[in-house]
Amino acid sequence: MSEAITRPVFPALYVVATPIGNLADLSPRAVEVLGTVDLVAAEDTRHSGRLLAHFNIKAAMISVHDHNERQRCELILKHLQQGESIALVSDAGTPLISDPGYALVKAVREAGFQVVPVPGCCAFVAALSASGMPSDRFQFEGFLPAKGNARRQRLEALKDAPMTLIFYESTHRIVDSLADMEAVFGAQRYVVIARELTKTFETIHGDALSGLRQWLAADANQQKGEFVVLVQGAPEVAAADEIDAQALRILKLLAEELPPKQAAGLAAKITGVKKNRLYQQLIAD
Ligand code: SAM
Repeated sequence: MSEAITRPVFPALYVVATPIGNLADLSPRAVEVLGTVDLVAAEDTRHSGRLLAHFNIKAAMISVHDHNERQRCELILKHLQQGESIALVSDAGTPLISDPGYALVKAVREAGFQVVPVPGCCAFVAALSASGMPSDRFQFEGFLPAKGNARRQRLEALKDAPMTLIFYESTHRIVDSLADMEAVFGAQRYVVIARELTKTFETIHGDALSGLRQWLAADANQQKGEFVVLVQGAPEVAAADEIDAQALRILKLLAEELPPKQAAGLAAKITGVKKNRLYQQLIAD
């Protein structure tokens, strides 16, 4: 392991991940950075103020949220120009992940200042790590649109994606979103919901969509709280003109006995692969 950064480098913007429910998940490095910077820029100063108070951290705070982020960029750049350091936090988890901060980080980097990540909790990473879903490829989609039509359109666009799909969802929409998922992805698509991660009522439950919806409908308590929804990717269908190993073997055997056109024609009848595609394969070999 290389040498750890222990003290803040001045001036810089620190992007600090905070807990998603369990305060013990705030890292010692995050505590140190939050306690050392000149200013903490928080999505909600009252909410983050309580977190800082819990760790006995006294810090000057300003708000940076969706509605004032662009104006706040100017102010934060001024602080950086004066040689100060700033920590950016959101209400929970990693800033910028379905949270404010993108415009600020971009502006600070463009102005030539350092942006330093202080990693930690992120709800979808925690959910994926414990879900048993394929994690080699995944697509994080954040929140689906709130309105039914737009939500179904978005799901339609994702229907054939072969990788694990990850969504954030709230207690208000979990039932409707899962119903739309069943309508679009089909009753058999396997889904895991990760609810209230790191909190008292943490639940990670997976089933085919039809079963999952029944399970959720049967217990109103399971509809409460914060959710990550992980959807198994669509099965990969071989492209129509793809030649698998078996088709290739048949083609080669026939080509040993017949002229290319005839071999391709017969192989097409046997394998279902297009004749022209097989012929092209033969003349390319
Ligand atoms: N920045 C956060 C992160 O790094 O995960 C996400 C913020 S986003 C505004 C809030 C959403 O994240 C919630 O509606 C829920 O979908 C998900 N989330 C946050 N905390 C969670 C938890 N403890 N368990 C499950 N999902 C959670």
